[in-house]
Amino acid sequence: MLYLDNSATTKIHPEVREVMLPYLLEEFGNPSSKYYNAAENAKIAVDNSRKSVAKLIGCHSDEVIFTSGSTESNNMFLKGVAHYYSSKGKHIITSKVEHPSILETCNFLEKQGFDITYLPVDNFGRINISELVESLRNDTILVSIMWGNNELGSLNDIKTISDICANHNIYFHTDATQVVGKIKIDLEDFKGITFLSCSSHKFHGPKGIGAAFIRQDEYRVLTPITPLLHGGGQEKEIRSGTLAVHNIVGLGKAAQIASNDLNLNIKNLKDCEKYLSELLSTKFGANIKFNHDHKLKIPGILSVQFKGINNEILLKKLAPIIAASTGSACSSSKPSHVLSAIGLTLDEIRSTIRFSLSSYTKKEELDIFKSL
Ligand code: PMP
Repeated sequence: MLYLDNSATTKIHPEVREVMLPYLLEEFGNPSSKYYNAAENAKIAVDNSRKSVAKLIGCHSDEVIFTSGSTESNNMFLKGVAHYYSSKGKHIITSKVEHPSILETCNFLEKQGFDITYLPVDNFGRINISELVESLRNDTILVSIMWGNNELGSLNDIKTISDICANHNIYFHTDATQVVGKIKIDLEDFKGITFLSCSSHKFHGPKGIGAAFIRQDEYRVLTPITPLLHGGGQEKEIRSGTLAVHNIVGLGKAAQIASNDLNLNIKNLKDCEKYLSELLSTKFGANIKFNHDHKLKIPGILSVQFKGINNEILLKKLAPIIAASTGSACSSSKPSHVLSAIGLTLDEIRSTIRFSLSSYTKKEELDIFKSL
């Protein structure tokens, strides 16, 4: 079976699995404990993973907070900023095509009296910069715009958004879940990004672990937010809870591999995407239409309409040989809010399939499409 649902999750890398095992078995100590080996070793492993994640996204390791993944980080940033800065303002700006972990959190905050602006997007799912600027207000406390979209692969102009937020002194959060490991990220070049979310299982690490970036100032003080989880004060009192050392070690290894192989992986994703696009065009001609932009995108994500065919029926038929999805795995029963926001009709949405490749997909494997 050819697995092409890598935006939903990826297969764990064999080296990641290997480094995790000792931390599930003999090195089971709590890194917050002291003096004995199992605890000290766990602490060292956590510190090393933090450095690997920091290297992957170009920040200081003190700016990396481990969470359970992007759903938690997104909740933490939106609620954490809203609660900490509510006396300063109650306005938050986001976009219509964000992941449900942003949109549902915004919905929750609206019920608590916050005012949310949902920016529309263009045909490929990008926000319009002038609309962002026009929506900024004196009481805006946060802008949260995803780096790359999980259904269409389109990339927002994060550099410009980051500069605008920096110039206006407004905190900027970006959900980078789909881009980490697939584009080069150096947060040194994006000084306006205050917060970033990413998730290990999207780049061949384990599930249930992610990293949240929080920018520190020149005195190495992290931008304050109200924690989502209160408790023992782990992770600089921002995210309490005993650290999941085996998962953190797995995330660290996945980050290290992603950093080392980044250029190679990007090239493979681009080559395979081009190859699959050509195969599909040759095979189906005018019976298919690509929803995604071919430029300025995350390599390896294809959103394809199979005209006149129901996507659920097609996916079921393909399932024994090809695993793909209708869009986001998180909300696959509802018609996609992303495809609706780019102006697709219900029929067009119901005939769309997303193929998402991995760094390890091989061109030869894609030849299976020739025999469909
Ligand atoms: N944001 C985006 C853009 C995603 O694609 C996902 C995962 N589908 C998430 C957030 C949630 O990530 P996690 O699975 O780590 O909670």
